[in-house]
Amino acid sequence: MKALRIHGKRDLRVEELPAPALAPGMVLLRGGFTGVCGTDLHLYVEPESYPADFSRAATLTGARWPQILGHEFSGEVTEIGSGVTNVKPGDRVAVFPYHHCGQCLACSAGHPTDCEHMAFEGMQGQSGGMAQCKLVDAELCFALPDEVDLALGALVEPMAVAWHGVGVADVHPGDSVLVLGGGPIGIGVYFALRAQGIETIIVSEPLAERRAALERLGIDHIVNPLVQNLQEEVFRLTGAHGVTATIDAAGAPHAFVEGMQCLAVGGRMVTIALYREPIPLTRPLLAAGRSIRSSAVYSRTDFREVIGAMRDGRITLDGDWVRFVDFADVASAIEDLHSGATMKVLVRTPALDGVPLRAEK
Ligand SMILES: [Zn+2]
Ligand SMILES: [Zn+2]
Repeated sequence: MKALRIHGKRDLRVEELPAPALAPGMVLLRGGFTGVCGTDLHLYVEPESYPADFSRAATLTGARWPQILGHEFSGEVTEIGSGVTNVKPGDRVAVFPYHHCGQCLACSAGHPTDCEHMAFEGMQGQSGGMAQCKLVDAELCFALPDEVDLALGALVEPMAVAWHGVGVADVHPGDSVLVLGGGPIGIGVYFALRAQGIETIIVSEPLAERRAALERLGIDHIVNPLVQNLQEEVFRLTGAHGVTATIDAAGAPHAFVEGMQCLAVGGRMVTIALYREPIPLTRPLLAAGRSIRSSAVYSRTDFREVIGAMRDGRITLDGDWVRFVDFADVASAIEDLHSGATMKVLVRTPALDGVPLRAEK
């Protein structure tokens, strides 16, 4: 089978590998799509700065590099191992790629999303999305309903990152929310907020190409923070109260500070983004009960809810915010991401020779 493996820094190879063998409790997947995100960019451009040593076997999975790339993926079940009851051949599934130990201090305290031994399929896993045939633990497979195709299925993971962040924000109908960053995660946050009944959603995005996609999605309040005064816009749209929550999907320290300044009394800043630079936090930003919460990864409940939202048409590919590429183009798509390309990238899985894939909707 063909697979795309990462061997090290800026070293991605399309390779011919033996197809994996089925084992008890496991399933084989073929086809589907794989999302490329900022984490893949990080792994590709500077794996040495990632908080894991990829040359060593990961504690939870035993995996080390080279690694089949892609932690955001879907596929069709072709075979199931003994003992598997949650999926069957022919099912289309999204894969929950996150492993946690259940025993470390964070896990024991009820924070499995901050597990100190965390590992992901596609980073330190038995498989990753970019292979013609994928061996995956059945427990990680979430069957997709008929309404959700395999392209959307590959977006369950990043949409769950956004969905989890909105859960951390704890917002309710009638609240207003500012979203920093209109990239794929910011778009996911918008979908999740809409699904929770939030009507006043303001998205701040400096890049014109991204703002155009936000407009195509029908988002009412889009701010270009380079030419508009974000705080003025927010206070104008919220009757001078400020927003109940700001959700940061951008990761720029100056935007973080502006986002804090837009909070209403008692409002919360939720950080989904990662920050490469320190944030200049001052006491007044936290005055009057304003607080900061962080959101990482997602739970199985988030996965289920995202799939439900996709089934109900609340998360869609409308608005042309996704582009599709083939295995051979992944390295250049990642380089594009590095130089500021703005669309979500989904990688098609090539069909296995002689085995046609079921027609996609
Ligand atoms: Zn990702
Ligand atoms: Zn743990």
